[in-house]
Amino acid sequence: MPLLDFLFPKRCVQCKKFGSYLCTNCFSSIAFIDTMVCTMCQRQALGGMTHPVCRTRYSINGVFPSLVYKGVVKKLVSVFKYPPYLTDLQTQLIDLCYEGIIQKEQFMSLLQEPSIFVPIPLHPAKFRKRGYNQSVLLAQGLAKRFDISVSDCLKRVKHTSTQVGLSKDDREENITNAFAVRFDICDLAKNYKHVFLVDDVVTSGATLREAAKVLKKAGVQSVWGVTLAHGE
Ligand SMILES: [Zn+2]
Ligand SMILES: [Zn+2]
Repeated sequence: MPLLDFLFPKRCVQCKKFGSYLCTNCFSSIAFIDTMVCTMCQRQALGGMTHPVCRTRYSINGVFPSLVYKGVVKKLVSVFKYPPYLTDLQTQLIDLCYEGIIQKEQFMSLLQEPSIFVPIPLHPAKFRKRGYNQSVLLAQGLAKRFDISVSDCLKRVKHTSTQVGLSKDDREENITNAFAVRFDICDLAKNYKHVFLVDDVVTSGATLREAAKVLKKAGVQSVWGVTLAHGE
């Protein structure tokens, strides 16, 4: 047994059972998303695509969440932030996300055309505090598995408070004008047919809608979202 495992034995993040960070019991309680919604109106939508009637000039084309954001998944996302668990859990979470996302036919067919991942950026002040951006790690992990590139073309220009606990309208207001493109993305728009925004958890969808709007205004034709989980 490695010394560190002896000093700090691994325990399940959910039920605290010794042996691993995620026991088989808790692992089996993880659920993939099977019913997807339109990110504009939150009603059920085939393949996670934005309803034709909900589409606007700069609206997001659709969002593909992988896991149901509850129980173990909620716990995993929150411990994703703390170093002792980082490497093991990060890989496990990205694998889970990947497993869920490859089940989405719409996503897999889009991926047949030139595509690129763009992580939702953190504000520099938040990034300094945390030391890394979860969405970047997720985007890099997925990009490696799908063998496509990641671009950091988006930046956060507004230091927003957390969206957690805010009403739908307040979330919208809070995130408005939060993003900008980091550089001229004409080439990116020309070279890639689809941009996939990558974020950890989608709730109201306000963040993804806002980021998609910025990319579309900058010339990208097709913008989608890929998220680890979908929660209330
Ligand atoms: Zn457990
Ligand atoms: Zn809709």
